[in-house]
Amino acid sequence: MKIHEYQGKEILRQFNVPVPNGIPVFSVDEAVAAAEKLGGPVWVVKAQIHAGGRGKGGGVKVAKSLEDVRKYSTDILGMMLKTHQTGPEGQLVRRLLIEDGADIKKEYYVGILTDRETQKVVVMASSEGGMDIEEVAAHTPEKIIKEFINPLEGMTEAQASNLVKGIGVPEASQAQAKEVLVNLFKTYMQTDASLVEINPLILEGNGNIKALDAKFNFDPNALFRHPEIVAYRDEAEEDPAEIEASKFDLAYISLDGNIGCLVNGAGLAMATMDTIKLFGGEPANFLDVGGGATAEKVTEAFKIMLKNEKVKAILVNIFGGIMRCDVIATGIITACKAVNLSVPLVVRMKGTNEDIGKKMLAESGLPIISADTMAEAATKVVASVK
Ligand code: ADP
Ligand code: MG
Repeated sequence: MKIHEYQGKEILRQFNVPVPNGIPVFSVDEAVAAAEKLGGPVWVVKAQIHAGGRGKGGGVKVAKSLEDVRKYSTDILGMMLKTHQTGPEGQLVRRLLIEDGADIKKEYYVGILTDRETQKVVVMASSEGGMDIEEVAAHTPEKIIKEFINPLEGMTEAQASNLVKGIGVPEASQAQAKEVLVNLFKTYMQTDASLVEINPLILEGNGNIKALDAKFNFDPNALFRHPEIVAYRDEAEEDPAEIEASKFDLAYISLDGNIGCLVNGAGLAMATMDTIKLFGGEPANFLDVGGGATAEKVTEAFKIMLKNEKVKAILVNIFGGIMRCDVIATGIITACKAVNLSVPLVVRMKGTNEDIGKKMLAESGLPIISADTMAEAATKVVASVK
């Protein structure tokens, strides 16, 4: 789960990581009032969307007067902000953060995430803050310093010291920078984050260290113990189809193609998508109905796929293990009748009660195209969209 920058900064404040004063707003008048309250003389108007790269896309503007604040807020609120993380159509800006302008002397980068290879938490830091870290990693990887933290021990003094010296924090600010890193690590652990990225972490003219941006991702499996984080959820930033799917416990991810896929099991779903691509098609979604797929769940899955106007055909690929093929067939038949199926449907079933399931589909009178192997299913579904 993702949250907005201003929410991330609220969390950082609780963990004693210094951030600029700021006020989130939803309208231009609120923005000007917030700027008056903050006092200036310099403010930053910042688009709040669940994507990075806002500055480059025109979503972060420095204002030197209240008129500037009004102008930039008017420009940014309601714009479709395009960044490298939003996709080509961009993301509608509904919220702004009005923040004190900082006196930036130097921008650093800090990112914390779990490293599966070492089974530790990796803290990455770089002197090249403000830029895309992917660029730094690609061209000057030596400018990214890493420390692998044992989650049971926490960040040691020596590790914090290596990081701040490695990125060239001046002597006088090193103690504060170390404290910030230790607190960021605590934030990561105690909120069950899967990513905390501060880009930039800045050195101010007066020598203070501050987090100027805040990006958090949280492990969805741990959200049950963080109601305070769940409260930050902004569904307007999420894909409506994915929200709908989560209500029915369906694992669904929207993709760009035109072949809807309904599969049981994440591994089979991945293999199905690969096979579609191998035969020249493009999947419209990843959809795992799970092991306990009821007729109701299958119906909802069909509804979600068909709401996507790009979907021109559906491929159902089911392995009947614990889930019997006849139960799935019942689900498919009920669903097809309930949703008034408007696109070709290819079904491949294997496993328990496969014969009964296939017979039910054949006798249902529905225009279902059946297939026996994955290759056959993929060939047929790709042909049906061409
Ligand atoms: P994004 O990463 O989405 O582009 P940031 O919050 O990192 O957004 O802002 C982009 C740039 O804008 C920063 O690298 C920094 O140079 C500048 N900036 C952001 N917030 C402030 C602030 N409060 N004061 C001064 N400059 C800022
Ligand atoms: Mg940033």
